[in-house]
This record gives sequence, structure tokens and C-alpha cells, in this order.
Amino acid sequence: MICLPEPDAGILARRERIVAALAAVLPPDAIVGDELRLAAYETDGFTAVRCRPLAVVLPRTTAEVAAVVRLAHRDGLKLVPRGAGTSLSGGAVPAADAIVVGMGRFNRILDIDYGNRCVVAQCGVTNLAITQAVAAAGCYYAPDPSSQVACTIGGNVAENSGGVHCLKYGLTTHNVLGVEMVTPDGEVVRFGGRHLDAGHYDLLGLTVGSEGLIGIVTEVTVRILPHPEHARALLIGFSDVRAAGACVSDIIGAGIIPAGMEMMDRPAIHAAEAFVNAGYPLEVEALLIVELDGPAAEIDLLAERVRTIADAHGQVCCRASGDEQERARFWAGRKAAFPAVGRISPDYYCMDGTIPRHRLADVLESIRKLSQRYGLEVANVFHAGDGNLHPLILYDANRGELERAEAFGNDILRLCVDAGGVLTGEHGVGLEKRDLMPYQFAPADLEVQHRLKRAFDPQLRFNPGKVFPSLHRCVEQGRRHVHAGDEPHAGLPRF
Ligand SMILES: Cc1cc2nc3c(=O)[nH]c(=O)nc-3n(C[C@H](O)[C@H](O)[C@H](O)COP(=O)(O)OP(=O)(O)OC[C@H]3O[C@@H](n4cnc5c(N)ncnc54)[C@H](O)[C@@H]3O)c2cc1C
Repeated sequence: MICLPEPDAGILARRERIVAALAAVLPPDAIVGDELRLAAYETDGFTAVRCRPLAVVLPRTTAEVAAVVRLAHRDGLKLVPRGAGTSLSGGAVPAADAIVVGMGRFNRILDIDYGNRCVVAQCGVTNLAITQAVAAAGCYYAPDPSSQVACTIGGNVAENSGGVHCLKYGLTTHNVLGVEMVTPDGEVVRFGGRHLDAGHYDLLGLTVGSEGLIGIVTEVTVRILPHPEHARALLIGFSDVRAAGACVSDIIGAGIIPAGMEMMDRPAIHAAEAFVNAGYPLEVEALLIVELDGPAAEIDLLAERVRTIADAHGQVCCRASGDEQERARFWAGRKAAFPAVGRISPDYYCMDGTIPRHRLADVLESIRKLSQRYGLEVANVFHAGDGNLHPLILYDANRGELERAEAFGNDILRLCVDAGGVLTGEHGVGLEKRDLMPYQFAPADLEVQHRLKRAFDPQLRFNPGKVFPSLHRCVEQGRRHVHAGDEPHAGLPRF
């Protein structure tokens, strides 16, 4: 059981004052100020860091959100927007002097517009609920994070989330047409709409991936697509991880863009198979799941070409899904891979870095060597087609291995940058990768990004301590740049 320190008298008094002030703008059932219920908001999917917020609000309307934001603006209070709390980069972890704005009650689909092929949803609607709402009409929402049953569309916008089908159909940013957002001074603004290209500065583009730093998104308009006529998944096994990596880059190099192209290594294959019986071969070192969609004749042709490329890389087994049930089963293993790995290790740390596809084989080999050096196992399960790696580092926090796992994770991310890649593919920077930002960005790049943040939020009250490294960390990395970043999460309890 985790025991948190009792709050000191100062915090309790401040909490009481803030709850009283919030009561002037929100109904009582929209304010959480008691210790027990606040505990539920201490962390998100990045459970290594916890912090109890001053208070939590659960508004129901945009007017209520705007009222809270205006109150915070007047009194200089910090705010942390929160969807379902599934962030893997600590994006929704509160600061001790912040109010969490939980958007879970914004859970209605407002309009389904088949004429314009879009859905207008409140920000707290889950990703999967959008697809379910249009499924009967043969449509779906393409970006499909593995957390889609729980994560919200507002969180997806904030993180620019991806999923297995983003290789062909794009990330969140390619599928969002418009948003309504409350800015840090309490104004309600709309960027985009039901059409492409807003015809002015691309403020919608700026909002997607902004990690709760520039406002609270209350409504999202997304593009929906008709289901492809047919889809077929190929399971291709290799006795060598390098060969699988090289096969991925050759498939793309041949001009084939599969609907999804995922890769799992031996530990991930075994964990997933034991969990869901997906039908994966257990004797291989690496497994590719390649999904092809479109008219049946096109799939036949592409499947043949993929098979030929896989042959050239020495595939040891290749099986195509025979029907929809089997295709779903192939994907079930991949989609359940994270919880499956959770069954074989007391703890795991999910990394998220992206590299150029042609470096897959080298980088996987380097991760294997790092794994030996740190004495911690890794299971790899990732969006191979996008070059978006998700090494899962297995560790046991109760045996004091967390710090080693974090150091290993940081080395993996540095490896990604050194290979010409980037620190994140879809999970965002949040708290987790904040201090590595100077490793990827030059001081001038960071300063431009921070200027954009200040243009919306000059007092730095929105999601404090996320994304931008502290001055201290920049100096440590030998890259000094100056901004007013604070570090409210330094010295927090880690578990
Ligand atoms: C098992 C598992 C599998 C996952 N698989 C994937 C995957 O395949 N692909 C992927 O991309 N991610 C994945 N994730 C990560 C996570 O689900 C996504 O980042 C998701 O978009 C977060 O949504 P959320 O509603 O939980 O947001 P939260 O975790 O609550 O918040 C995430 C960030 O968004 C901000 N935010 C939330 N709502 C709003 C809002 N309305 N307005 C402004 N800012 C807001 C928060 O401040 C925070 O910075 C996975 C997570 C888990 C636990």
C-alpha cells in the first residue's frame, strides 16, 4: 500500500480557500476537495510520479470551464487539464499547487454529419465511442490508440495520439477538422470547422499536440472514413530481428503503404500469446503483422508483393488471416501486448521514440546491448511502419530497479535522437521526456516553442512543469536557454 504524507496545515488552509472560491462558479458536485477523492487524481498512466492536487473540478459545460479558467486567471492559479488519465508521459500528473480540470463529464456526441463525413464530439468522449457511434453506417474514426476503450478524444488531440492504423490514415492531427477551446484567459475560441484548411494561421495544427499547455479543448470535430471493402492481416515470422526490421523498410521502399505494420519481438510475442491466444508462432524471434486493405484484387496483389519481399529477408513463416474473426484475433494479441507484458513483470516502463525506418535493425540491436548492460529485459512491440518504437523495459520497483529502468529509458531516447529520430512518436513529452528536450532541440528551437506557449499563457499557469525543461536541466545538458520555466515536480514522491 502506498502511504502519502499528510498535507501540511498551509496546504489544507489554501485548499479550503480555493474550494470556497470555486463554489461561487460551480455546483457542489463539480468540486472535489477531500483527501480520499483527490487521491484518484494523483497520477496517470505514468505511475512513477504522483502528486496530490490542491483541488479537482469536474465541469459539465463550456461556460463552467470558462468560469473556472477566469477565476484561475484572476487569482493566478495553475490548472492541469485531464481526460481519462491514460497518458504514458505524465502529461496529466498534477502539480501540488494546481487545480485539475477533469473533462470526463463532457461525454456526449453532439452531431454525426455523414454529408461532411465528420463527427462533432465533446472532449471527454472516448476514442472508441466515436467509431461505435458510426459503425452501423459502415464508418469509423481511423486513429486507434491501444487505449481507445478509455482515452478521450480531448486527450488524443492534446497528445496527437496514434495507433496501428495511423501509418496509412494519419495521426490525430490528420483526422481532426476543428476544436472549441477555452484559452488561459477564459475566452472560448474555435479553430477549424467541418472543412479542410481554415485559411489563416494554422492554430488548429498548433492545438493538436499542445499537451494541455495552451488551453482546455472542450469540443472536437473529427473526420470519419468509410470502412475499406476488405482487409487482410499477414503474420510474418523471422528468426532474426534485424531481418524483420530490414523487411519493414523494404516494404515501404517498394511503395506499399499497409493499413498497419506492427512488429513484436520474442518476449512480446510470448506474453501476448499466453494472454489472448492470438495464434502467433512461438518459435520466431520477430513477428510482423502487416494489414492490407482495399478491394480484394488489390489486396491479393499487394499480399503477393509483401510475401516476395519477406522471402528475400528469409521469413520463416507467413500466414494470412482467412476471415474477419481471424484478422481480429491477430490484432487482439498486438492490442493487448502492454497488459500482457504487465503479467510477466511486476512493473514495466513503456518508452516511445521514433527513428527513420531504415535504422530499425541497428537501433533494435543497440537496445539489446543496452538491455544487457543495464541487466533489465526489454519486450519490443511497436508501430514498425512509422518507425515508432515502444520498448517496454521490465523492472521491479520493489527491488529498487526504477532508477535503473529510467536511466535505460533515457539512453534509448538518446539513441533515437542519435539515429536521426525524435523523442516521441505519440505519447508526448509531458514530464517524462521534458529534461531530454535539449538533447533534441537547439536553444533557439526551444525558445521559439516557448514563445508560442507564452503567447497563449504568459503567466505559465496551464499544465505547469510539462514539456519545457527547467533552466537547470538545460545548463546540465550544456545548452543554456532562458525561460521562466519552473519545476513543480522536482522532488515528488516516486514509486
Ligand atoms: C495501455 C495503454 C496503451 C496506450 N496506447 C497508446 C497508443 O497506441 N497510441 C497512443 O498515441 N497513445 C497510447 N497510450 C497513451 C494515452 O492513452 C494517450 O496519450 C491518450 O491520448 C491520452 O488520453 P487521455 O484522455 O487519457 O488524456 P490524459 O492522460 O488525461 O491527458 C493527456 C494529456 O492531454 C491533456 N489533456 C487531456 N484532455 C485535455 C483537454 N480536453 N484539453 C486540453 N488538454 C487535455 C492533459 O493535460 C495531458 O497533458 C496508451 C496508454 C495506455 C495506458
